[in-house]
Amino acid sequence: MSDTTKTLCPYCGVGCGLEASPPAQPGKSINRDSIGTPIWKVMGDKAHPSSQGMVCVKGATISESLYKDRLMYPMVRDNLDQPFKRATWEEAYTRIVDRIETVLDTHGAEGICMYGSGQFQTEDYYAAQKLLKGCLGTNNFDANSRLCMSSAVSGYIQSFGADGPPCCYDDIEKTDFAFLIGTNTAECHPIIFNRLRKHHKKHDRVKMVVVDPRRTATAEAADIHLAITPGTDIDLLNGIAYLLLRAGKIDQQFIESCTSNFPAFTEVVQHYPPEIVASKCGISQADLEQTAKWWSTSQNILSFWSMGVNQSSEGTAKVRHIINLHLMTGQIGRPGAGPFSLTGQPNAMGGREAGGLAHILPGYRLVKNPAQRAEIEKLWNLPEGRIAPTSGKTAWEMITGLETGSVGLLWIAATNPAVSMPDLERTKAALLRSPFTIHQDAYYPTETAKYAHVLLPASQWSEKTGVMTNSERTITLCPAFRMPPGEAKADWEIFAEVGRRLGFKEQFWFQTSADVYAEFTKLSAGRPCDVTGLSHQFLKDNGPTQWPHPTGCKTQYGKRLYTDLQFNHPDKRAKFAACHSKGLAEPPDPDYPFVLTTGRLYGHWHTMSRTGRIPKIQQMHPDPFIEIHPRDAARLQIENGEMVEIRSRRGTGRFPALITAAINRGTVFVPMHWGELWAKDAEANLFTHDAACPDSLQPELKACAVQLVPV
Ligand code: SF4
Repeated sequence: MSDTTKTLCPYCGVGCGLEASPPAQPGKSINRDSIGTPIWKVMGDKAHPSSQGMVCVKGATISESLYKDRLMYPMVRDNLDQPFKRATWEEAYTRIVDRIETVLDTHGAEGICMYGSGQFQTEDYYAAQKLLKGCLGTNNFDANSRLCMSSAVSGYIQSFGADGPPCCYDDIEKTDFAFLIGTNTAECHPIIFNRLRKHHKKHDRVKMVVVDPRRTATAEAADIHLAITPGTDIDLLNGIAYLLLRAGKIDQQFIESCTSNFPAFTEVVQHYPPEIVASKCGISQADLEQTAKWWSTSQNILSFWSMGVNQSSEGTAKVRHIINLHLMTGQIGRPGAGPFSLTGQPNAMGGREAGGLAHILPGYRLVKNPAQRAEIEKLWNLPEGRIAPTSGKTAWEMITGLETGSVGLLWIAATNPAVSMPDLERTKAALLRSPFTIHQDAYYPTETAKYAHVLLPASQWSEKTGVMTNSERTITLCPAFRMPPGEAKADWEIFAEVGRRLGFKEQFWFQTSADVYAEFTKLSAGRPCDVTGLSHQFLKDNGPTQWPHPTGCKTQYGKRLYTDLQFNHPDKRAKFAACHSKGLAEPPDPDYPFVLTTGRLYGHWHTMSRTGRIPKIQQMHPDPFIEIHPRDAARLQIENGEMVEIRSRRGTGRFPALITAAINRGTVFVPMHWGELWAKDAEANLFTHDAACPDSLQPELKACAVQLVPV
């Protein structure tokens, strides 16, 4: 019998299947007090429907990250000037429960906040938000998906009436035209890009357009690279719509039968003729017209986007204007066609299903909907009115809540806000003011641990059992196959134990993660993401399965959403957005003449808690850098490799220059991965600001105004 375990890569939202085999020397197997054990072998799972055996360097090296700098035991201190001292779980739980009860007295439930993560398994998300939203009565549970995907969530909800990417990965091989905007798929979602590039190379008829101010590896592979000026995405999208309308290349029947608000949209679009759009976007009119031509002549069109669209002060509007192009051409609900958001975190999708943001409840319900709150209260056996009727604090509002004193306890789990939040100096100053911070993580040290009063050791991938949902809605069971180090526990176990100690024994009846998942699946009944037909046992027996998967569903329910062209708004129609472009929240000006944009590199993952500890990846990307166009560098007399000081209105940092024509003039790029643990004064978020999309409340991490000074 094979001792290989099938599981899922815990890095990005592509969600590649992995097979893990035990080390060759079984005699040296796991000792919970020593994590220096032999390394498990990890390979792509050829049978996984989403990835078919492919993996990138992150998935291939994941097991190397399991043995270094692990947080083994609870640690506590009374104030941030003291060193941590080891504590028992009993001491840590007592401290946390006492403090929650104190904050309930002094601040009320709204003084308690939890900031979670797309690294959570669905069971962790479910237990965490049940503790906050149900038991404590505050919706102050948000996740780092707020910084990543919340504009896609609000865009889908506003256009279709419900969240949920409508496409699947098999659409890649069925498309004739791939339109990629605000996504460096080659580096950030490499296995999806491999499939797309192969399909594109194989068929002359298949065209690819990439929209990005940088000539990324993704843009290199495109037929047309539209290197737009940052902040002009909606101009471009409306400009394409203008050309489609002018040529009469729209699907009138689909528009009339399946959509609403088209007249308002056309009213807006008439202000975007190609000569104005091309000039504003900084692209050639010929490229714009060719792109519109491919939109009008291709049989099946697939558009992809990720953080370049979402991390914007008009992120929701951008998402909706991508969807507009699909609605006006009827490019949705069939193979090879549709708008497809590429999720950042491995289980941000599962979090959206389980109620893992401050404005939602499990099963794609909304906290502001009284009937949906009442349903959940009943299912949780809690008194009517227990769930607060308004959205809780978002990730950034937790930081500003620390500034104003309205937050009395901040619980941070599986995320590293001391690197990833905008306006980092302000974030750090706010974290210093926190009366009580719990940091629950697999690693120590991290940048955020510096601001914690209690550290809780969390088990992670390979050490706990749970499910994750990838970008195409495929759910995979990720079983435990190694012991966690030291006294680390699964996140859901920690939340459940705190819930029981606060008096919610009935609500936290779970003995296993399979129990947690079983309760969650019940809550999904009749919802768009119905998974009542799933359980840990089902996933073990049948392998990865796409949602929806209601009870009694024997086979794949359907790879795509909206194949019946019935959308989730009450009138069953998809709704056109009609917005003008507003541009950047902080455009360049004479004092701060450059637009700084941020992004990811192929090998590193987010704030490097794992990948910073893997030698192969460290060698691949040893240092941060700033990309500058040669003409900008020449004007400022900056040589390649010289240190450059970047200044924004909020912070200053120093980066070595990488002079390259791959970046637009007037725009500079820095990678977002490095925190102070790995490089001094080279944090991308020293410069970024907190202006956010008014609908998704996702901050504009992709653009801010800076000045450059040679050092
Ligand atoms: Fe993991 Fe994403 Fe790489 Fe796949 S593409 S192996 S999910 S990091």
